[in-house]
Order: sequence, then C-alpha cells, then structure tokens
Amino acid sequence: MDEHTQTHRRVLVAKPRGYCAGVDRAVETVERALDRYGAPVYVRKQIVHNTHVVKGLEARGAIFVDETEQVPEGAIVIFSAHGVAPSVHEEAAARGLRTIDATCPLVTKVHNEAKRFAAKDYDILLIGHEGHEEVEGTAGEAPAHIQLVDGLEGVDGVTVRDPDKVVWLSQTTLSVDETTETVARLRTRFPNLIDPPSDDICYATSNRQTAVKQIAAESELVIVVGSTNSSNSKRLVEVAKDYGADDAHLVDDASHLRDEWLEGVTTVGLTSGASVPEELVDGVLRALAERGFTDVQEVESVKESMRFALPHELRRDLRTAGSA
Ligand code: SF4
Repeated sequence: MDEHTQTHRRVLVAKPRGYCAGVDRAVETVERALDRYGAPVYVRKQIVHNTHVVKGLEARGAIFVDETEQVPEGAIVIFSAHGVAPSVHEEAAARGLRTIDATCPLVTKVHNEAKRFAAKDYDILLIGHEGHEEVEGTAGEAPAHIQLVDGLEGVDGVTVRDPDKVVWLSQTTLSVDETTETVARLRTRFPNLIDPPSDDICYATSNRQTAVKQIAAESELVIVVGSTNSSNSKRLVEVAKDYGADDAHLVDDASHLRDEWLEGVTTVGLTSGASVPEELVDGVLRALAERGFTDVQEVESVKESMRFALPHELRRDLRTAGSA
C-alpha cells in the first residue's frame, strides 16, 4: 500500500445542524397552504434564507415577492420566518390580502420585548446586521425607540436620552461570542444597561455554534452548508475559524465544493445552517466520499426537541377543510 492509500480521511459531522423548528414550521406552512388553497400562493421575501428551499417551493406554485404591493388584491400572502414590521400587516390589510404569518415564534418574542420596552419609554439598542429582514421587522415595532447597533463598530455611535433607561435586544441569529463582546462594550458606556428578559439569540443558533465548536479544532477544513444570505450559516463559518479550523467555507450544495480546499486535509468538519435541508448535507457527504472521505462520524453536542405549531390562521382553515 502506498502512502496515499494509507491516509485515513474522515468527516466529523456536527449535531445539531440544519433545520430548526422555526424553519420547519415556515416551510411546512407554504407546503400546506399550497395543498389547502392551491397555487399560486404568494410569499413575501424568501420564506427562509435557502436557495434550494425557495426553488423547490417555486416549482410547487409559490410566488416569492419583495413587497405586498406585488400581490394581487384578495390573494393569499405568507409572511416569512424572519418577521415583518406592523406597517407590512397594515399594507396587506389595506389591499384586502389574506395573510398567513409564518414568523418564527422566537422572532415574535423579540418583537414583543421591543413593544414592551418601547411602551415604558426605554431606549432600545438592537444588536443586529443592518438591512437584514428580521432587524427591519423588529425595528419597525418601535422605530422611535430602537437604534441598530451593527456589531462592536456600532457601539461608539450610540446616543441615548437617559443612560439609566436603556435595554439591549438582538437579532436571533448572531454569533453568541461576538454579541457578548458587543454587550460588554455597550456596558462600559452604559453601566446600567438592562439585559433582555431571556436570550434573544435563539436555541438553534446557539446550539449550532456549540456543535461546530466541538468539531472545529479537530478539522483542518470545515464546510458549512448554507446560502450566502443566511445569517446563522455565515456565523458558523466564522465560529469554526475562531475555534481552530484552519479553513472554513460556506457552500450552497456539493457542486460548490472545491478540490483545492481538500489538498492535504485528512479531517473535514461538516455542518449546516438552520435553513438547510438534510439532503444537501447528504450530497456533500457523497461528494466527500468520492474523494476518499469515507469514515463519517457524527459528533452530538446538544439534544434538540423543539417543535412549533403551524400558524393559527392556517390551522383553522385546515381544520375546516378536514371537517368539510
Ligand atoms: S433560526 Fe431561530 S429564530 Fe430563526 S427561525 Fe430558526 S428557531 Fe426561529
């Protein structure tokens, strides 16, 4: 046997990975709505940030639009998992649209916190990425009270009315470590800064980061399956690098794998973002196996069992259909 064939090439697969409860619910919402009402069903923005999921639903008759004004009057429109500002609900009502709100309940929780603190006239520092749909939706709950803090660099520019009446909230899909740093920096400026009543970074985001940390140090290369507009997937690439992977890349699917990344590599770490179907991870595993990475080990760091019920307006219609 030559030196090459003796090389033991393995893949460490992080668990948990892939679909979270909010994505599962949002995708099922569109599927069940198509079954119940027939095509087309309109969806405002990408239902979840994954190219493959969106294409698959388009093939079944979903039409993705950027704004409610693109939806014909009286049609059904589904709001995405990332949530919308109250103004979007108002626009939809004004156009007589039938809405199904697939906002993740954990995003709604942050919206409710924003409303509560705004009602008590707090300045709210929302840590998040400028331009992300979730941040736009949350900020829209109380625009006069909320200012965006886009990471550490955003801290110095913050001004508040009363430094003793300031709370921070966050986008659900941030890096846990980076957010801790940003909050610490904010607290040096505002020592009486109030924490959110419970973690805004959701269980799925933080569990996937914990899982990738477990495999990063042992992997020369970490592959994260996810789309480039997926915040939680991009964070997994950064966390992998921070926790010891020599290299890490985001790929939409197996076709994006590059052979040069694998040169000299014996251990590949593999994970996927919260909006990624498992079949895409399977595709990457097959591509790796073709390149000699046949020893696959799953490394589980946290057990997950979260499930969310479908949006109530859809459940009601499904019940009516069932009893008809
Ligand atoms: S990543 Fe978290 S907040 Fe976003 S949809 Fe999934 S569970 Fe909900």
